[in-house]
Amino acid sequence: MDIPSVEQIIKEDVEFLRHCPNKDHCAACEESVCVMVASVADFPTAYGHFTIVGFVNNKDNKDHIMIIKGDTGDGENVLLRIHSACLTGDALGSLRCDCGPQLHHALERIEKEGRGVVLYHQAEGRGIGLVNKLRAYALQDAGYDTYDANVMLGFPPDARDYEIPAAMLRKIGVKSVRLLTNNPEKVAELELYGIQVSERVPHELPPHAHDREYLKTKKERFGHLLDLDHGRE
Ligand SMILES: [Zn+2]
Repeated sequence: MDIPSVEQIIKEDVEFLRHCPNKDHCAACEESVCVMVASVADFPTAYGHFTIVGFVNNKDNKDHIMIIKGDTGDGENVLLRIHSACLTGDALGSLRCDCGPQLHHALERIEKEGRGVVLYHQAEGRGIGLVNKLRAYALQDAGYDTYDANVMLGFPPDARDYEIPAAMLRKIGVKSVRLLTNNPEKVAELELYGIQVSERVPHELPPHAHDREYLKTKKERFGHLLDLDHGRE
């Protein structure tokens, strides 16, 4: 059987959504997990030329998107970055974390390779939301690390879940990935939801004065595979 192209999937999904009894009220959908492609558009950026794809789903009703480069073809060994949204890092140039450079570096790498996906996961603050992340920042200013700050606010240290990202990947025919990450937990979670990780591709940027402590916490308390010895000050 031919693997449908992303364009075909989108055409079918948009048609399906037009006739879906729930329309855009995905929360009312009785399917256990329902993920649909709702839009696709050309996406030229400073980092390369991509296609941007918008999804809807019935689980969290968040606007997760994919930025796709090239033909994902048979869906095997696709270079993938699952990037958790970080308004402060991605858009405002925050030096409290390494999110902005990680996102932009992933887009550059995928552009260079000519084939791959950035899945922009609306999981701000490891899933606790933007304002709660700012509350955690205030606790960090008082001397707690990001792990303890999340726990003090009543959240798990990492509240992210990868069921929807995995369903989005399956939707466009991705079966196995080369995952750009330093986080072994992300590899395990994705495999738990049925996406094979054929390779973990390290995605480390040199620390600087402002994010060194944050990266140290990632390494020591979240088990990220980081080598913090090469500085860039
Ligand atoms: Zn960040």
